[in-house]
Formats: sequence, C-alpha cells, structure tokens
Amino acid sequence: MLIIHTVEALQKIINEKKSSGLTGFIPTMGALHSGHISLIKQSKSETDYTICSIFVNPTQFNDPNDLKKYPRPVAHDIEILEDANCDVLFLPEVDEIYPNGSSDKKKFDFGQLDKVMEGFFRPGHFDGMAQVVDRLLEILQPDKLFMGQKDFQQLTIVRAMLRLTGRNTELVTGATFREKDGLAKSSRNIRLTSEHRKEATLIYKTLKWAKKNASSLNFDDISLKAMKKLTRTDFKPEYFDIVDGITLQKLNSIQDSDYIVACVACWVGEVRLIDNIIIKDETE
Ligand code: AMP
Repeated sequence: MLIIHTVEALQKIINEKKSSGLTGFIPTMGALHSGHISLIKQSKSETDYTICSIFVNPTQFNDPNDLKKYPRPVAHDIEILEDANCDVLFLPEVDEIYPNGSSDKKKFDFGQLDKVMEGFFRPGHFDGMAQVVDRLLEILQPDKLFMGQKDFQQLTIVRAMLRLTGRNTELVTGATFREKDGLAKSSRNIRLTSEHRKEATLIYKTLKWAKKNASSLNFDDISLKAMKKLTRTDFKPEYFDIVDGITLQKLNSIQDSDYIVACVACWVGEVRLIDNIIIKDETE
C-alpha cells in the first residue's frame, strides 16, 4: 500500500490509474474498525483502485474537547489497511487540505437537511463535513465514493452536495457494521468505560423496539418512550427522531412515507454515540 501525504503526489498517481480503470474512495477519520474495512472491501470489489483517506477534520468538530480526544491510532490503521489490500492511504496534514486556511468555507444550501438532528445539536458540523468531503472530492475526483449508512444524515447531505456540485462521482452506501451485541461500530466506542460499553447496547435495542412498534404506535409516542428508555444514569439522549429518509423531516405514522428511518444521538458517559434503523423502505 502506498502512503501519500501530499495532494500533488496523490493526483499524480490517480491520474495514472484513472486511464486504466475505476477509482474508489473511502474518506475516514481513522481509528479504523470493520465498518470502515467493509467499505474498503466494497470498493475493492466494485473498482480497480481503492484510496482511503485518514484526516481528522478540525472544521467539523463543534466541540474542541471531542477533537482533542478523537482517537488517532495511525500505526494500527496502516496495518489494517495493508491487510485489506487497500491501494493507497492518503494521510494529509491540515495545511495540505486547507492551504489557504480553513475559515474560507464554500457554503452549500442544504435546505432543512442540515438543520435537524445532528445539524441542530452540532451547529456547524455539517458545514465542516461538506467542506472537507468537497475538498477531498476536488482533489481525488473518484469514480465512486463509499460511505456508511451508520451516519445516515451525513449520507443524505453528501448526496445533496453531489447534486449541487454536479460532480461525476457515484455515491455507494455500505450497511452498518455492529458489535455482536448490536452496538454500532464506531471509532468513539474505545472511549467508553467497560461498564458503559456493556450498557450502550441499549441504543440499538431501543431502535429495534421502535421498529417493532412502528405500525401500532404514533411516532410521537414512540419518540417520547424511546427518549425515556434511554434516560438513565450516565445516559443522556439528545434526540430520537423518526423521519422521512429523503427529507429528514419528522413523520407521524407508518403511512406517512415509503422510506422511514429512526435516528438517535445519545451521550453515554462522556461519549456521544449516534445510530439509526430503517423502519420502512418501499422505494424499490
Ligand atoms: P468516520 O471515520 O467515523 O468519519 O467514518 C468514515 C466512514 O465510515 C463514513 O462513511 C461512515 O459512515 C463509515 N462508518 C462508520 N462507522 C460505520 C459502521 N459501523 N458501519 C459501516 N460504516 C461505518
């Protein structure tokens, strides 16, 4: 696997490879786990050249403490990527991504998509996320971009951004990888205490409970009950919203849309976790 630190070197190699096949790109913030690796594997199977980036983007952290504590086990990440036969790891410094400084953000109009849920509780987060994904796409111009369902709202916003910018990159979605007990794999999980790690399974249990009851209960009731279930010692849910999978607007009942997703964010001790479950998808 090639490890590349500069935009210039990366573009040189990509330009060579582009003539001989498709390129696939997986942007990450590192602390890699099997969810990330599943996206690498998906890219390996659908494209000819797979590039993974590790960049802990400072502009998408609304909480400086979260940025400071974000895990950075780079040597281990490199080993995992080598094992997965990733072709290139792009590992840039901040100056390489933002040569003119990071404050000069391209502004996108995502309508209501970035105002709700994560957008409400993490002001500025999606501006920073869109800024870095757009910059990385500008550098790499990949044929396919692989992103996880785990970050459902992020996925929706990136899809909207691709439409707005008219980039010739196809967005491919990967399923959420989970621990055996159901907890969604996340780079943040290693920051949980062992007690909290065990209890964190309550998040996915609550999502499954919501799905089971989606046909019989009003969604407001489900959300209220879910928030109650998640409110316990050291747990602090921020939202439990049942939304339309395209507009991300809250719905009232199972009849309201063909595509319905329940999304949750919950603090477990000092770690903020997000997850989601598809309640209904009759779009195919
Ligand atoms: P991150 O490093 O957390 O920014 O995530 C990088 C990419 O991996 C994003 O597209 C995430 O949605 C995806 N990802 C994170 N966790 C999982 C998971 N448990 N299963 C599948 N994909 C994931």
